[in-house]
Amino acid sequence: MIIYLDGKYVPEEEAKVSVFDHGLLYGDGVFEGIRAYNGRVFRLDEHLARLYDSAKTIDLAVPITKEEFAEAIKGTLRKNNLTDAYIRPIVTRGKGDLGLDPRKCAKPTVIVIAVSWGAMYGDLYEKGLRALCVSVRRTPAESMPPNVKSLNYLNNILAKIEANYHGMDEAIFFDIHGNVSEGSGDNIFVVKNGVLITPPTLNNLRGVTRLVTLELAASMGLTVVERNLGYFDLYSADEVFVTGTAAEIGPIREIDGRVIGNGKPGPITRQLMAAYKAVTQKEGSPIYG
Ligand code: PMP
Repeated sequence: MIIYLDGKYVPEEEAKVSVFDHGLLYGDGVFEGIRAYNGRVFRLDEHLARLYDSAKTIDLAVPITKEEFAEAIKGTLRKNNLTDAYIRPIVTRGKGDLGLDPRKCAKPTVIVIAVSWGAMYGDLYEKGLRALCVSVRRTPAESMPPNVKSLNYLNNILAKIEANYHGMDEAIFFDIHGNVSEGSGDNIFVVKNGVLITPPTLNNLRGVTRLVTLELAASMGLTVVERNLGYFDLYSADEVFVTGTAAEIGPIREIDGRVIGNGKPGPITRQLMAAYKAVTQKEGSPIYG
């Protein structure tokens, strides 16, 4: 496996960062999760825009341009002969001392990893996922905006651990005000009486897949509403699904023991899953040529 590290393509064994890198010491950095399908990087510009916006918010200057970053991503895919892949761009604060001060970190570390990775949830796209509304709350925007895709994912990992202990496939976060936020690594939608509803993005990550789903829903003529949701909306929904680059569109069949709809992926969810598959197969920034 070939990794992009600070301007060079190196074998995985040589792709090493310092133990003084603040990405490791403090989770000080940002990242993205991108997929390539059929020789094209899906929604590359949107992912890079979010990466740079996340970096800007934490006052981290990405040392290369977006064009150079796009080339580093495609170069990594080419070096690994990949046409379908999961891509992980990372920018850390870089090597510093044991203090917190980012001014001690002279140069951000830039990494691109690309691996072959199929459907994240396997047969659950047919069966539907079981989800748990976890007790741990999504980090409030007042403390750390969930819009920043930072390297510190402990909030999300705590949610995942809680869901794991209950044998559930995914966690559903609420925010500190009792509004539905998102999954541990994906956004959430409900369908009620034919209307698609998803929370506004102050309390969750502005998912690229969420945006694509909203576009697809609009093109299908569905009514889409962005508003806050509570437990009531989840439990009484006709359909619920999560969206994410890794998860793609994942139907939820059960939440906290309540069966959603008839316990199978619903018709609107299925339509959106098919539309998402189609769009990912044909759109994107070409990797080769
Ligand atoms: N929320 C969180 C917390 C995530 O980690 C992700 C995955 N990046 C998403 C939502 C979905 O975002 P996207 O559709 O851009 O992958």
